[in-house]
Amino acid sequence: MTASDWKKTLKQLEIKPVVKAKFIKHCKPKDRKTGVVTKKCERCGRFGAHISSYGLNLCRQCFREIAVEIGFKKYS
Ligand SMILES: [Zn+2]
Repeated sequence: MTASDWKKTLKQLEIKPVVKAKFIKHCKPKDRKTGVVTKKCERCGRFGAHISSYGLNLCRQCFREIAVEIGFKKYS
């Protein structure tokens, strides 16, 4: 389970309070201060291939889509 979709699971367990409490105790991902999970794409929410240069905070796929709009130019 990725860190992004565990909230969905928690939402599904709203009708089962006992199971929900058990899920939170045993299955909830750790609150991390470092690592991949701390950096998230601001546009789509991906964790992989993060570009934090120039304060972009985008994944590589989103950067490819909007690079020209935000003023980057491809030289090759
Ligand atoms: Zn993205």
